Amino acid sequence: MRRRALIVGNWKMNGLVETALELTESLLTGVAKREKKKLLGEVVVCPPFTALSAVNNILGGSSIKLGGQNMSAESSGAFTGEICGIMLRNVGCRYVILGHSERRRHFGETDLDVGRKVAAAFRDGLNPIICVGEDMAQREAGSALDAVDAQIQALAPFLPEKTTKQNQMVIAYEPVWAIGSGQTPTPQQISEMHVFIRDRLDKYMGADETRKVRILYGGSLKPENAAAIFSVDNVDGGLVGGSSLSPQDFLAIIDAYPTSD
Ligand code: PEP
Repeated sequence: MRRRALIVGNWKMNGLVETALELTESLLTGVAKREKKKLLGEVVVCPPFTALSAVNNILGGSSIKLGGQNMSAESSGAFTGEICGIMLRNVGCRYVILGHSERRRHFGETDLDVGRKVAAAFRDGLNPIICVGEDMAQREAGSALDAVDAQIQALAPFLPEKTTKQNQMVIAYEPVWAIGSGQTPTPQQISEMHVFIRDRLDKYMGADETRKVRILYGGSLKPENAAAIFSVDNVDGGLVGGSSLSPQDFLAIIDAYPTSD
């Protein structure tokens, strides 16, 4: 089954509203040109919370969609400093990144926290982009597949029986050691992991649901390596951190996704 490519920019904690608007303007121009040439999959940008509303205003009816970088599993109430899914929807978000390794590492998010947030994203009408991936010690010990298996197994009770057009699920395979490091797995390692993730999802969701799930690769994606990574079977797009802060680089990564079939 051919799945529509998805390229997501995770701007992390970078930029004030003005910078976010400049970046968005450049992307709007670049994406509009590419749409005319029919060269495009789906593009999502995930600015910091403070810029979401302003970016949403200038995205207007464009095909670029908006996502949050995190959300609370709660739906409202006395949770100082938190943002819930309905709030993200209210400022135009359709997607939300969950379980990013920086959240797991710096903020102690557990698999259970991630699972609860995934269930909340579905409840609140958002498409979760769920990050999984092994760290370097696990890769070196030969237990990368086991580490990812454990993360997916922990998610299983929170996965919906059915996804819909409005509520899709996306997995991002992000080896922790590849994020921001300039290092990437080999195409064989990426292929092995993507096939494995799809197989695990089959087990928990059933093949009919799983075949709709897009599995992205993330970790030091750059214009120079994107074409090779995107040509790996079962890679349905990318989650891009550092390179998404440069419109030229992000657009070059979008261009690297194959479009011929
Ligand atoms: C990320 O933060 O999700 C990411 C993939 O970062 P980078 O592209 O900078 O490695």
